[in-house]
Amino acid sequence: MIKYSTKILPLGILAASSIAGASEQNPPIEKQPNIILIYADDIGYGDLSCYGGNVATPNVDKIAANGIRFTDGHCSSATSTPSRYSMLTGEYAWRKRGTGIAKGDAAMIITPDRFTIADMFTKAGYSTGVIGKWHLGLGARAGAQNWNKEIKPNPRDIGFQYSYIMAATADRTPCIFIENGKGVNLDSTDPINVSYQKNFPGQPSGKENPELLRIHPSHGHNQAIVGGIPRIGFMQGGEKARWIDENIADVISAKSLEFIQRETAANKPFFLYLATNDIHVPRVPHQRFIGKSGMGPRGDALLSFDWTVGQVIKTIEKLGIEKNTIIIITSDNGAVLDDGYKDQAVELLGDHQPSGPLRGGKYSYYEGGTRIPFILSWPETVKPASSTSLVSQIDMLASFANMLGVEIPQGAAPDSKNHLSALMDAKVKARETLVEHAWGLALRQGNWKYIPGNKSTASQLYDLNADIGEKNNIAKEHPEIAAKMQKKLNEIKSQ
Ligand code: CA
Repeated sequence: MIKYSTKILPLGILAASSIAGASEQNPPIEKQPNIILIYADDIGYGDLSCYGGNVATPNVDKIAANGIRFTDGHCSSATSTPSRYSMLTGEYAWRKRGTGIAKGDAAMIITPDRFTIADMFTKAGYSTGVIGKWHLGLGARAGAQNWNKEIKPNPRDIGFQYSYIMAATADRTPCIFIENGKGVNLDSTDPINVSYQKNFPGQPSGKENPELLRIHPSHGHNQAIVGGIPRIGFMQGGEKARWIDENIADVISAKSLEFIQRETAANKPFFLYLATNDIHVPRVPHQRFIGKSGMGPRGDALLSFDWTVGQVIKTIEKLGIEKNTIIIITSDNGAVLDDGYKDQAVELLGDHQPSGPLRGGKYSYYEGGTRIPFILSWPETVKPASSTSLVSQIDMLASFANMLGVEIPQGAAPDSKNHLSALMDAKVKARETLVEHAWGLALRQGNWKYIPGNKSTASQLYDLNADIGEKNNIAKEHPEIAAKMQKKLNEIKSQ
């Protein structure tokens, strides 16, 4: 167990013992810590140097050395939108339709009536902010957003008091930042139009005008051309508002540091969901990183990610809040090399293993799909170590609710379990079971991994203790274990 102070609860905060359905109880904390969740995009299990990666990421490694480095930490799904949905709502995305990879003009997938991790922190008296990649839709109706006005609902309607986001992803239109629901640098004389149906008259496209491109697609990604880069989706206007890809990491970092400084000056505990664009495609890091990794744009984007982490470290140290600030570094899905642009990710890889010893990566139901870097530091409280416990991002909501004594409304966050002790202490075990989600579902139970069969494939069973790379399907040798796990998966699905 963690040693919390047993001093008086902050005013207005419910006692931890009143939490419904909590699987463990923790004594109240003395002073609410700040929480900075650094959520990487497409960084795989083996990409960071503290997980064996070839590109040096000293700032991440510093957090890992001061905290717990989990070797069996998971996002909920093998792609962005569903992982973010699950992490924010505490509900497995596969339970809800419409939570697959979102288009840039998708409606907001998490509706304002839902209880989110941001609502939970707000309830605990925190300032809450999301800065960076969103990819959970905006507005009430898909394709009906007016990008020239305030778009509602936006992250403010689901608990984030401040938001400065990319609407979807760097490879999808609209290619603008949106602050608290409004496009940044809008110009009424040059309105923005977005379509995922057809191009606008007179606009070039990646498909028709390859001569205008500085980066070429390997598949898809041949519609609007923004900054010489072809995207998914069409876009017209908004020249002044368009982001410059080389500056995205700098903008996200600067806005994050501003948020941290502002809330610290106001003496408010804060929850910052810092969602980096790195290392998603198109990988166009700032010039100062170009050629520095020796692995091309993908490796250089890893350096850019590490730089962002370094900026956060420097800022909290300068503000003197580093001891009581929890930093979590994790990723929304596993690694991918060629994800739609010809950027030499494969050619320049060398012997770097983006998924480490794991099989698969982004989009995959093998471990490389959802087992990702997962690091938590809290210098004042958490002892540095490495943990083999099975932990999931989906449990952050219930775990921090427990820490802060916030009651989760009935029926909310159904799949989020309180595993605060395991997140804070490497010796404590968290989950016994976890559903992994890619195109289909898979189940982890202890050291076992089960993937149901279908019409074209046999069911698969792996003993991860003996076979971390999922090379040896032993479903035939252990039909009783496979059957038991199929039953368990059915039970979880029907809950
Ligand atoms: Ca992703």
